[in-house]
Amino acid sequence: MIIALDIGGTKLAASLINDNNIIIDSRRSSTPKSGCADDLASALEQLIAPLLNQASAIVVASTGIINQGRLTAVNPDNLGGLNDFPLQTTIEEISGLPVQLLNDAQAAAWGEYCQLERPCKSMAFITVSTGVGAGLVINGELQTGLTGLAGHAGHTTVDPQGPKCGCGRSGCVEALASGTAIGKLAGEIYKKNLDAKAVFERFHQGDQNAQMIIDRSAQAIAILLGNMKALLDIEVVVIGGSVGLAEGYLARVRYFMEQQPALFQVDITPARLGHEAGLKGAALWASQ
Ligand SMILES: [Zn+2]
Repeated sequence: MIIALDIGGTKLAASLINDNNIIIDSRRSSTPKSGCADDLASALEQLIAPLLNQASAIVVASTGIINQGRLTAVNPDNLGGLNDFPLQTTIEEISGLPVQLLNDAQAAAWGEYCQLERPCKSMAFITVSTGVGAGLVINGELQTGLTGLAGHAGHTTVDPQGPKCGCGRSGCVEALASGTAIGKLAGEIYKKNLDAKAVFERFHQGDQNAQMIIDRSAQAIAILLGNMKALLDIEVVVIGGSVGLAEGYLARVRYFMEQQPALFQVDITPARLGHEAGLKGAALWASQ
């Protein structure tokens, strides 16, 4: 059996997964907010300790960029300011087991790819949630890239005049489409704190401001899909995340995609693995 470890901005999760990719046991804890490497190391140690004696290897799906065994953040705020963490050596020392690392959206992309209803060669996965994560499978292989950056489509630009992104660029897909971006624009328009869920409630009631806010997000994703199709000729895009799977959202993405020439349109399908996509995808990738 294998331990799959999910390192996110708000939570840590560890699952014991068998040969059939079935989760046998799962544990969760909160991601330390201190930005201190020792705190993250001890949180990980406590989390995996009860699972260790049944596992022969560990695979990690983590937020941020995984490059040569180290974890760096595209947006350091996501990990309480922690921006450079020796993930591979830390977990090897804690566990005494062989360790493989993946970015969480890349892991989820592989999980969704393995579960596709109609198998294909080239697929993109986009999760629209607190941020916008993405992963690419090209010719049947998960792309991680030379430095772990491959597939970070949330940080491609769709509007150079758009809002500043946490990564340092302006008008990224993430800065326009994410749940955080939806909440920010709602705050400016309604002059009060509303999260993406609250904006969707108004959207469903026919509130025109809410429709405009959700449309800004959906349009950014539609432009991204056209760009991906042009760049990589992908066959299908799987969309997940709390915003991506919110009722009515994919219909708006399709509406804006259909404004583009047919050449740049691509099949869209909702994600199927939910919040376990990263864990299960990482385990499938490690065992191939
Ligand atoms: Zn960005």
